[in-house]
Amino acid sequence: MTDATSADPEKDAPRDTPWDRLSGSPQDFAEGVQVENSGDFAAVPDAFQRLWTPHRMVYIQDGQQPHPDDCPFCIAPSMDDEKALIVARGRYAYVLLNLFPYNSGHLLVCPYRHVATYDEATPEEVAEIGSLTQVAMRVLKATSGCDGFNLGMNQGRIAGAGIAEHLHQHIVPRWALDSNFFPIIAGTKAIPKLLGEVRREVAEGWPVSTA
Ligand SMILES: [Zn+2]
Repeated sequence: MTDATSADPEKDAPRDTPWDRLSGSPQDFAEGVQVENSGDFAAVPDAFQRLWTPHRMVYIQDGQQPHPDDCPFCIAPSMDDEKALIVARGRYAYVLLNLFPYNSGHLLVCPYRHVATYDEATPEEVAEIGSLTQVAMRVLKATSGCDGFNLGMNQGRIAGAGIAEHLHQHIVPRWALDSNFFPIIAGTKAIPKLLGEVRREVAEGWPVSTA
């Protein structure tokens, strides 16, 4: 039996808080961000904690996670720009946001054709992938004030390509101080902006005459 005048806050603490339903402590919940210790799960624990991002369900529920047998970079151009996270369309290649960004504004430049490696791209595709990359860098600098970029193509699964069957160039904007120990010690990336917001900013900042 408890009453409102009890001096035992531990005993009288509300029992319906998130940390009561889970195994963490209130200290695990910083600024409303819920982080669980994977060692407390009933399943086999791994080294990673989880940063729950339910807002990303909208991308999954909108059908942007096609069947693994389908190629997302072939499907995306048939969708509208907002749903496919496309920021610009060229003649031979197009630019879209990475659904799993390393940083806010992480873009991918893809040829429309389903080719796996850079040496399979035509001269026209190579040229337009290059020019779209240049424009993307200018737009990201203008819209996000980034301090630098990582550009790169992972060729083949062994080299780290997530979707190895369809060529794509990564454009990752970088800011001073954007690296920290969070990914290393927590196995988690903090992405400060939602994808839809970034897509709109980059698409609106894209010059009209680049296609
Ligand atoms: Zn494809």
